[in-house]
Amino acid sequence: MNYKNPDEHGYYGEFGGAFIPEMLYPNVEELKNNYLEIIESEDFQHEYQNLLKDYVGRATPLYLAQNLSKKYGTTIYLKREDLNHTGAHKINNALGQVLLAKRLGKTRIIAETGAGQHGVATATACALLGLECIVYMGEIDIQRQAPNVARMKMLGAEVIPATSGSKTLKDAVNEALRDWINNSVTTHYVIGSVVGPHPFPDLVARFQSIISKEIREQLQEKTGRSTPDYVIACVGGGSNAAGTFYHFVNEENVKIIAAEAGGLGIDSGKSAATTFLGTLGVLHGSKSLVMQTEDGQVIEPHSISAGLDYPGIGPFHAHLFKEKRAEFFSINDEEALRSAFELTKLEGIIPALESAHALAVLDKKKFNENDVVVICLSGRGDKDMETYLKNL
Ligand SMILES: *Cc1c(COP(=O)(O)O)cnc(C)c1O
Repeated sequence: MNYKNPDEHGYYGEFGGAFIPEMLYPNVEELKNNYLEIIESEDFQHEYQNLLKDYVGRATPLYLAQNLSKKYGTTIYLKREDLNHTGAHKINNALGQVLLAKRLGKTRIIAETGAGQHGVATATACALLGLECIVYMGEIDIQRQAPNVARMKMLGAEVIPATSGSKTLKDAVNEALRDWINNSVTTHYVIGSVVGPHPFPDLVARFQSIISKEIREQLQEKTGRSTPDYVIACVGGGSNAAGTFYHFVNEENVKIIAAEAGGLGIDSGKSAATTFLGTLGVLHGSKSLVMQTEDGQVIEPHSISAGLDYPGIGPFHAHLFKEKRAEFFSINDEEALRSAFELTKLEGIIPALESAHALAVLDKKKFNENDVVVICLSGRGDKDMETYLKNL
C-alpha cells in the first residue's frame, strides 16, 4: 500500500479532497496544476536546498540521547528540529511555499497562525525573499502570544486580528480564506500544516519530508542501517509528524507512533485528541476526522500546547489511523509537562510543549533493549517558559 502521496484528487484512502467555495477554485487549481513541476525542478531544489543548509541550519542533528536511553532501557535518537532557525520545523514549509509563490508570480503572502509559530516562520521567509506578508490571527491569540506578535511586526508583517467566532485559530483561517478569494491573482496562502484542500497536505508533507530523508541518511551513518524500529512524533495538524514518517510509511518494518494532545483527558470535554474523539467531517477544505457535535458544529479543542490545540487532523494521518498503520496515543497536559521537565533534567534540552507530547510516549509504551527509537523534537521551549515557570 502506498501511504505516502494522495491520489490525483487528493485522497488518502477516504480522507482528503478539496471542499472549497467556487470562488476559490481558480487559486487552488493554479496551485494544483503547477506545484509538482515547480518544486521538483532542479532550479527550485537548488535554491531551496541552499537556503535550508545555510539559512535554516540543516541538516539538523540526529542526537543519541544516552541518558534518556538508559532511563528507558532502549536506544533513543532525537531529531533536533528545535535547532532550526526560528526554533521549529515550521520554517521548512514556510520557506518552501514562499519560494513556490515567487515562482508562481505572486507578490503578496497571507498566512493564518494560532500560537504565532507559523506566522513567525512565514514572516521570516517573506522578509528574506522580499514579499509582502499579512498574518491573520485570532484577537484572543494576539493577546495570549504577544512576543510572537512583536516578532512578526519586527519582521515587517502586518498582523490582522480575526474578531469573529471564538477569535482563535479557526476564525483566523476563515479570514485568510476570505482574503485569498479577494486577491487571487497577487496572493499565495501559506498553510502551516498538512491540512486544507488538496494539494496543500501533499505540498506541506513534501517540504517537511526533509526530516525523514535526513533521519535515514544519519541512521545509516550512525548504525549501519537506514531504518529505525520506531518513529514517534506529535500531531497537531500533523506536519512535523508527516515529515518524520514520510520516508518510512511504506516500509512495513518501521513502526509509527503519533502523539495527540489529550488536554485534561479524553473524557474531560477539554481535549484535542482528534482520532479518539473525532468523526468523519469536512474542516478547512478537506475531509478528515474532526471534533464536532452531532450536527456538525466544530468543538473547541483544548491543549496546554497551543500548537496542538486544533480540532482536526490532516488526511494523511487520518488514513494512517484508519488503516492502523500508525498507533495513536493521547497524551494529557500533565504527562507532557512531566516529559518536558524530564528531558531538560536528563539531557539539558528544553523542548517545546508540543514535542514533549511525543516524548511522553516513552512512559506509555515498552520498548525492547535493542530497539532503535527516533523521536522528532519538533521545536524548542523558549516560547513555553511562562507555562513551565508556573509548573516548576
Ligand atoms: C506548530 C507546532 C507543532 C504542531 O504542528 P504540526 O503541523 O502538527 O507539526 C508541533 N511542534 C511545534 C514545535 C510547533 O511549533
